[in-house]
Amino acid sequence: MEATIDSVVESLKSQLYALTEVAKTLTLPLELPELLELALRKIIGVVPPAEVGIVMLWDQPAGLFRPVASFGFDFAKIKSMGLRAGESITGSVFDQGKPCLFKGPEEVAKAMANMRPANRAVFDRSLPSRRQPQCSFAAPLAVGEQKYGVLILETLTGPRRFTELDLPFLQTIADLIALAIDRVRLEARADAVRQAHESERLRAELMAVLSHELRLPLTAIKGYSSALLLEDAHWGNEKKLEFLRKVIDESDNMEFMIQDILDSSMIDVDQLNLEIEPVRLQRLAHEITDEMQRRVSRHHLIVDIPADFPIVDADPRWVRQVFRNILDNAVKYSPDGGLIVIRGEVRATQVVISISDQGIGISPEDLIPLFEKFFRVRSALPYHVSGTGLGLPIARAVVEAHGGRIWVESKVGQGTTVFFSLPKAEAFLEEP
Ligand code: ADP
Repeated sequence: MEATIDSVVESLKSQLYALTEVAKTLTLPLELPELLELALRKIIGVVPPAEVGIVMLWDQPAGLFRPVASFGFDFAKIKSMGLRAGESITGSVFDQGKPCLFKGPEEVAKAMANMRPANRAVFDRSLPSRRQPQCSFAAPLAVGEQKYGVLILETLTGPRRFTELDLPFLQTIADLIALAIDRVRLEARADAVRQAHESERLRAELMAVLSHELRLPLTAIKGYSSALLLEDAHWGNEKKLEFLRKVIDESDNMEFMIQDILDSSMIDVDQLNLEIEPVRLQRLAHEITDEMQRRVSRHHLIVDIPADFPIVDADPRWVRQVFRNILDNAVKYSPDGGLIVIRGEVRATQVVISISDQGIGISPEDLIPLFEKFFRVRSALPYHVSGTGLGLPIARAVVEAHGGRIWVESKVGQGTTVFFSLPKAEAFLEEP
């Protein structure tokens, strides 16, 4: 009698140990598959009759039970199994909603009899040394009304097998697993909601910043044109021209910003659609600087690229945009004017273009996030410089889409140089 009590106490102690170990494992901050795999490993270690185990979860969109984690099975193989509702042990135990024991190989085989052949083949191939289960325990994984799937533990060799007495204990283990699944899924849902809120908040903030940036030049345009229309004011010709020039400048500002916003949204949806052709960068650089020089008077723009500069394979529309964005910054951030020089350097497989200004420069800590969307340095200038914080991210996306790189060197108070590389045209590379 004493021996029996001793063995019951011993068995209860080992069950308690097993439960504690599995519960401890299930609290680890892991992704669901890793968490379940670790829990199965633990269960197999502390519940002697269990030699292999698998967690099958209902995949609602697919309408199938899928293996999410296993122990003992070859997971790379078994993961392709997909069981329909009611199929095999998983399907029937899920429907019944209570734990089941299949005591011998015949009972197991009978419970698996309706498994579709493709699934059966996958199951057989993933069993260690193809040994068929001798005894199987399966329990539904559910929390309240929420049914997630089924836990299956199997004995392949014995000699120990599950008995009816093990059922409550095994169901408790299944309940712990179901609670962990519930927790991970709730956390994931809460994360998704948090992320959605956060991105909505950011979007609203950015829209506010962009609208503000667009409104500034608009206000100026309205102010100058209203002033010109004032009936009582008698502006001299000089003044009128000055106002009109301001209207044009501010319209250019708006146009650039709108272009940046459009380009950035095209990049976001992967719509760069490069139309590659041979491009002469020195010609492109001259066209853009001539056009820009007409708009600015305090800056002197110089192109220092030799006439025999290699041709690159590129989309001229987008490379023009890169030049514009960088040059636009060179002008905006050198308020005292100065020289802006575009140089070209030839390397083994690439050409490197550099654009230097003598402006306010950028501090080392601001160089790090410079290519992040919407990043703008907190300006040291006493007045507002309009911009979207999209110019450099667009330039980077375009340069990288061409297989090049973009980077910046700068010294506060001395000026900035933006470099970008583009691969030489194939034809050019083949020349001796
Ligand atoms: P923005 O529309 O604000 O000019 P960009 O992405 O083109 O956006 O540039 C990001 C930030 O980098 C700018 O707000 C500015 O602070 C800084 N920056 C870019 N180019 C220069 C430059 N040549 N000199 C100084 N600061 C620059």
